Amino acid sequence: MEVREQLHKTLKKYFGYDSFREGQEALITQILNGKDVLGIMPTSGGKSLCYQLPALLLDGMTIVVSPLLSLMKDQVDSLRDMGIAAAYLNSSLDRQELLQLMDDIRYGNIKMLYIAPERIENEYFLSAVRQVNVPLLVVDEAHCISQWGSDFRPSYQGVARLYDLLGKRPVVAAFTATATKEVQEDILFQLRLQQPFQIVTGFDRSNLEFIVEKPADKMRFLLSDLNPNDSSIIYCSTRKNVESVHKKLAQKGFAATLYHAGLPEAERQANQEAFLHDRKPVMVATNAFGMGIDKSNVRTVYHYNMPKNIESYYQEAGRAGRDGEESRVILLFSVQDIIINKLLNSKTNDGEATNKLNKMINYCYTNQCLRAYIQEYFGEVIATQDCQHCSNCLNKAEQKDITEEAQKILSCVVRMRGRYGIQKIISVLQGSKQKGITDYGLDKLKTYGQMSKYSDQALREMIGVLIADEYLQVVGDQYPLVQVTQKALSVLKEGGKVAMSYALEETGDRAAKQTG
Ligand code: ADP
Repeated sequence: MEVREQLHKTLKKYFGYDSFREGQEALITQILNGKDVLGIMPTSGGKSLCYQLPALLLDGMTIVVSPLLSLMKDQVDSLRDMGIAAAYLNSSLDRQELLQLMDDIRYGNIKMLYIAPERIENEYFLSAVRQVNVPLLVVDEAHCISQWGSDFRPSYQGVARLYDLLGKRPVVAAFTATATKEVQEDILFQLRLQQPFQIVTGFDRSNLEFIVEKPADKMRFLLSDLNPNDSSIIYCSTRKNVESVHKKLAQKGFAATLYHAGLPEAERQANQEAFLHDRKPVMVATNAFGMGIDKSNVRTVYHYNMPKNIESYYQEAGRAGRDGEESRVILLFSVQDIIINKLLNSKTNDGEATNKLNKMINYCYTNQCLRAYIQEYFGEVIATQDCQHCSNCLNKAEQKDITEEAQKILSCVVRMRGRYGIQKIISVLQGSKQKGITDYGLDKLKTYGQMSKYSDQALREMIGVLIADEYLQVVGDQYPLVQVTQKALSVLKEGGKVAMSYALEETGDRAAKQTG
């Protein structure tokens, strides 16, 4: 009881809050009891408080390993405002500042030290830190230690070496917003956590509406959907896409800026600032943008291309609506996204990555509640299968049997001997008279023109379903070729069924409208 009171008093006194959020009190109590912890909380869940509060109550200097310079500075500034002796050690310090900081550490003047992982093995630091008591070592963004995660940082591996370099092993508290089982287990293993207390809290972001769109023309969709006055982020998979989407938006008069790793540092910084201060409310960026950015009023996060796994998707999408206001996350999906990703994976031949990619593709095709799908993926308890707040629940998607269509497409691919790409297959099915078709004698195939009443987009969509369900596969070095798989034989010969979802309320872009 006494401890609880003390915690609440400290919470109020330093942070000004009346109550803890889900998971905070449990994590703090365990840390104070000397237990290692792994806290898995979504972005904005309130992770910082879980280690800042114990740091205040413990004797000695708490070390916080953090990968982000900007975040470090923000946190240290706000801790200092609260009257807490905080400092950071990273590449931004000059020699004079570094030596001053080392003295401050030695004299016990620092309560919380934020440190970049690259600095852990710095000799000045090690010699200073050995002279003080370090009760707690915090590993923020702990997924960076895992090669399974999307933000692997080799320098994080130095964290566990620090235990031996310090006189006494501190309590270790790791935090992340990445919730997959493999990454969690890898964090426990790599950080050598000792019988840690683990907690996963509120991943569901109830103010976000999850939407998957399959527009025939993504740019046109974006131009009609984008609100020029709202803050939005548009994620693209490549720098080239970032440049071209940004250019088109700028031409249409949107106050848009851009961010990718290929831009000079100064330009990246300036663009980021313009976005953060709403001078340019629209940001077009690769996934290099966003980690550690705390902009609360982002109303929509678009994905112009499908990311390679649900973890990346959820982390990027989660940058919408941090203020709790209604916000949308919209994935603009096209079959091309599958082809590109499948092709990339076929080169690396990484089973794990392929598995994750397939889960991402299924997200784009599933009929299930999208929120439930994500919760299930992260191993959370599913609150409802009917959230009424995602494009599947709102559009009442239904299954349509496309077995007959699938048979025609698959037998066409067999006859084309797996030597052609998706566009040629479509042209043959439609009975196109283009030179590229007649020249190769493709107009002589039995399946030529068998699906002439289907639009390009409708056929593309169905081929997408067949790739997603692994009736078709994408192979090739430079040019993606489409071939049938073993599984396809069941549909061709044994009367297997293929289903595809389509929405009852058509938007005009959904493929199923044009079929049948
Ligand atoms: P994370 O590190 O998990 O992304 P933060 O630690 O930055 O999230 O917290 C997000 C926001 O929530 C911050 O503005 C913080 O001040 C606020 N916050 C944290 N804990 C509480 C609490 N117990 N009560 C109210 N607000 C809180």
